[in-house]
Formats: sequence, structure tokens, C-alpha cells
Amino acid sequence: MSEQDQYKVQDPTTQYPKATSEWKQKQPEPGLQKEMNPVPDAGESSYRGTGRLAGRKAVVTGADSGIGRAAAIAFALEGADVVLSYLPEEEADAKEVVQRIEEAGRKAIAIPGDLKDEKYCEQLIEDAVKELGGIDILANVAGKQQFVEDIADLTTEQFDATFKTNVYSTFWLCKAAIKHMKPGSSIINTSSIQAYTPAPILLDYATTKAAINTFSKALAQQVASKGIRVNVVAPGPVWTPLQVVGGQPTEKLAEFGADVPMGRPGQPAEMAPAYVFLASQESSYVTGETLNANGGVPSP
Ligand code: NAD
Ligand code: MG
Repeated sequence: MSEQDQYKVQDPTTQYPKATSEWKQKQPEPGLQKEMNPVPDAGESSYRGTGRLAGRKAVVTGADSGIGRAAAIAFALEGADVVLSYLPEEEADAKEVVQRIEEAGRKAIAIPGDLKDEKYCEQLIEDAVKELGGIDILANVAGKQQFVEDIADLTTEQFDATFKTNVYSTFWLCKAAIKHMKPGSSIINTSSIQAYTPAPILLDYATTKAAINTFSKALAQQVASKGIRVNVVAPGPVWTPLQVVGGQPTEKLAEFGADVPMGRPGQPAEMAPAYVFLASQESSYVTGETLNANGGVPSP
């Protein structure tokens, strides 16, 4: 993947490649970014920080790979210390993120675990507060996506796991974090283009993403008077492990992202500035909002 400064002006339609038949690949869930071909760009070399989050204390879920990795790296390069949540099987990816954050001179605290477990969610926030001396940014980026063609084959077990991972963990982590958050703190949840234009094969997943939008709009109003903001990033098709572990049929990966107006998939690095904007004081008057970063698909 090309290495480039995020501020270099260029044609966004050709800034990153289109998918090809080489992109067809399969890994078991949750997958490793380092084993993808091509390896996604999570901003390891391209993100340039300018001190927008100096001294901030962030928790990022799904921080080992994809969009969460890009957000964690960008937060650190902007001056934040970061607690990283991910699954134990993803240690190899997470190690690289820890290393990148430490190279930037910031603290990286790895706390792996299963977000489907309420106790882990509560402990993650408690440990983060202890390790960082507080929490003022929570980016809920972890997510589960498994395509199923027919509702007859969509098991209760999968429906439950998708909701626990995507919706319940967002609820549990927000609930635990808000207790510790001072005015100026920011929560960023992660929805999807799937919230508005659901694919028929992503029934459970798309439904969770609509729930996350609505949850965030309600919570934003509840905590506005405390000076805490709650916003959402809704990515379009982005090249990450999620897509190669059963998020899409393998055959479809050859055209991944071809159907958006820009004609190409996004890279995790292109999502990071949205999380940084919503985390930083620059977005002081923005709450209850969803920032769509999807290559041009019209979205509410
Ligand atoms: P990814 O696979 O890199 O990240 C998902 C992460 O979720 C994993 O790395 C894993 O650490 C975490 N996770 C999953 N189940 C977990 C569990 N039970 N406990 C703890 N952690 C768990 O893929 P990504 O695409 O970067 O996904 C990040 C977010 O972006 C997700 O919420 C996804 O729904 C959203 N999103 C992705 C796309 C896309 O096209 N890639 C589009 C729209 C929205
Ligand atoms: Mg991962």
C-alpha cells in the first residue's frame, strides 16, 4: 500500500487502489491484518499529527487492526495516551500498534479480552482509568460482521453475538466511562453505511449499526449538559480484516468498494481523521452527529 502524507493534495479516486481478483482471500474470525494481501494502510507511515489531542487519555476498542488501529495510531500521533482493547487471538497485530504508539512517545496499554462480556467491559474502563489517570476519549470501534444469505440460516447464537459485540459493548463501555468523564470528554461510536442501505446478507449486522446511530443520538442529548459529546463515524467499504473473515462472500472481494461513487474501497487511514476531529475540542459544538466517510454514497 502506498505510503503518503495525509495532507498531500491529490485525486482521491486514485489515492488508493481499486480491488482486484488478488484481493480474494479468507481467514478465520477475527483474522490478522498482517496476513492480508494487500496489507491495509492504517496510517502507520502516512498519518502526521499536529498536537490536536495533546495530553488526552483514550480507550480504543478493536485497536489491533483496521479502523480501530488507524484511530489508535492517529490519537497517539496527535499526543494522546491509548488503552487498546482487542481479542487475545489478535496479539500479533496489537503488538505492532503498541510499538508504533511507543515510537511516537506515548503510552500504549494493551488490555485484551472479549467485549461480549460485561465484566470485561467494566474492567477495561477501570483499568484504563488507573493506568492513564483518567479517561476523556472513548472510541468504540470493535465490531462483528458475518454474512448469511438466508434468515433461515441465521442462528440465534450469531444474532446474539453480533448484538453483544456491536451494541451491548457500546452500551456497557459508555456506561462505565461516563462515570469517570469530565467536561470536554468525547465518545465516538462506529456505525456503517449498512445502517442506511442494508445488504440483504447482513441482516443482523446492519441492524446493529442502525441501533448504534440511534443509541448515540439519544445518549448525546442525555450527557450534553455534562459537557460530554457523543458522535458516530459511519464508514463505507474499507479494506480491513472484517471483510476477509466472512464479512463478505470471498468472490465479492474482487469488486470490493467498486460500487461507491469514488469507485474504490477506503483504507483505514482515511477514517482516522474523522475520529480525531470528533475526539478533539475542534468539534466542540458537534454532538449526536454521524460523520459518513463512505466514498460518496448519499446518507442521511
Ligand atoms: P477489523 O476486523 O480490523 O476490526 C474489528 C475489531 O473488532 C477486531 O480487530 C477485534 O479486535 C474487535 N472485536 C470483534 N469481536 C470482538 C470481541 N468479541 N471482543 C473484543 N473485540 C472484538 O475490522 P474494521 O473494518 O476495522 O472494523 C472496525 C469497525 O468498523 C467495526 O465496528 C465495523 O462494523 C465498522 N465498519 C467497517 C466497515 C468496513 O468496510 N471495513 C464499514 C463500516 C463499518
Ligand atoms: Mg483485528
